[in-house]
Amino acid sequence: MPSDKKLLILHVTSEVVPYSKTGGLADVLNGLPKAQATLGHKVYVVSPLYDAVDRARHGIKKLGKSVSVTLGGRSFDFQISKADMGDGATALFLRNDDLFGRPQLYGNGNQDYEDNHIRFGSFSAAIFELVRELGLAPDIIHCHDWQTGLVPAFNRLNSLNVAPTVTTIHNLAYQGQFPADVLPELGISWDVFNPEGLEFYGRVNFLKAGIVWSNKITTVSPNYAQEVLRPEFGAGLDGVLRAKGGNFTGILNGADYSIWDPRNDPYIASSYGPDDLSGKQKCREHLLEKVGLKGVIGPIFGVVGRFASQKGFDLIAQVIPSIVAQGGIVVVLGSGEESIQKAMSVVADAFPNRVALKIGYDEELAHQIEAGSDFFLMPSRYEPCGLNQIYSLRYGTLPIVHSVGGLKDTVVDLGADPENGTGFVFHSFDAGAFLQAVSNAFGIYNDKPRLLAARLRGMAKDFSWGQSAKAYLQLYRQAMKM
Ligand code: ADP
Repeated sequence: MPSDKKLLILHVTSEVVPYSKTGGLADVLNGLPKAQATLGHKVYVVSPLYDAVDRARHGIKKLGKSVSVTLGGRSFDFQISKADMGDGATALFLRNDDLFGRPQLYGNGNQDYEDNHIRFGSFSAAIFELVRELGLAPDIIHCHDWQTGLVPAFNRLNSLNVAPTVTTIHNLAYQGQFPADVLPELGISWDVFNPEGLEFYGRVNFLKAGIVWSNKITTVSPNYAQEVLRPEFGAGLDGVLRAKGGNFTGILNGADYSIWDPRNDPYIASSYGPDDLSGKQKCREHLLEKVGLKGVIGPIFGVVGRFASQKGFDLIAQVIPSIVAQGGIVVVLGSGEESIQKAMSVVADAFPNRVALKIGYDEELAHQIEAGSDFFLMPSRYEPCGLNQIYSLRYGTLPIVHSVGGLKDTVVDLGADPENGTGFVFHSFDAGAFLQAVSNAFGIYNDKPRLLAARLRGMAKDFSWGQSAKAYLQLYRQAMKM
């Protein structure tokens, strides 16, 4: 096969920007397919049509076609619709309102929907019917996270072999585990309920199914790919991943600079770029006014993220008093776990004149925090790739990160390498080490030439999708030879 043959690539995902999103996964499913389509490949992204998807706004059109699948004796019908994602990529949607016509993607609050195995199991089974109904002949099926783990499983176990499969793990902590007795409901034989198959400590594990039956497995940064081979980061699947040998690799996520670039960001108060940073000052003033801290002086430390223990909000809560004592300002945007929300509210309430906390999901404010802040805090316990620190670099906002996963792959520590540094990297996951990095940030804030040089180095970094899209294509071609 000539290496320049254009491929038909079918991505399967539970969320995709601009239609549905709870995290970085959705961003990837917008950026990667568009970059692949730009390289001349035919790219489809299939996702469920949730209630919250705005059909009219996104030009989603019914195809007047439907597919039906039977799982464990129950039938599920899906209507197919379609939308143009731009750059030549096409979104396809599978609609079944009983399963997906709900307010949230995965559950209410912290409570997952109890039929998630059926929802994503039937969605995965329907992929093969969709391929048949639309007459597609994919060269590769690229699956994302546990929700699509049964696609490679059905492909192999039911001898469908429609195409080689690749599974990308966006976060190994979310595996889609269910009690063993769901197996008959999924129409899967007990023959594969063993450690070599999808059994995991007596439970059914969707992500493990994806890993076991895919031709190639990837995760979203080279460093995280190394880390998860060790028990500390492997979430119980390190052995399964080690067994994959060279078929498991890390490819760094890209950033979509058509959405995240201060030169053309419609959400921010004033455009700016490396040639002229004056707009950043206006973004600062606008941000402070918006969060009720108008006119307050001092460096702004921004935070945007899911309230999950992964993200290190416990460390953030611990260092906030010291940031305030040193004359800093903290602006936090996030939502998620109740306990983190409460803990953050307690610290924010203690310093109403210097700490602003916004609870909720707010795309616009996320952009404004990236633009208006001086530093961005990301002390994650673990971080498969992380996008916010990549966005921070482009916005001239120095990231302060824990040395894990993709954070380590994308931020150069000013402490260790003052000539090339783009942010601050701390190594030990404790408040003392984090605080030291924060104190170093105060140091550079008072040294304007050094601060400007570091900002400009970060802004010049290019983490766009082009490079990573090519790495995936190379991987697909290897999978097609297997
Ligand atoms: P993860 O996927 O683990 O949540 P990433 O850093 O990879 O973390 O991606 C997070 C994405 O979600 C970014 O685009 C970020 O701006 C966005 N995001 C997270 N929380 C919020 C929020 N509360 N409001 C707006 N955007 C958010």
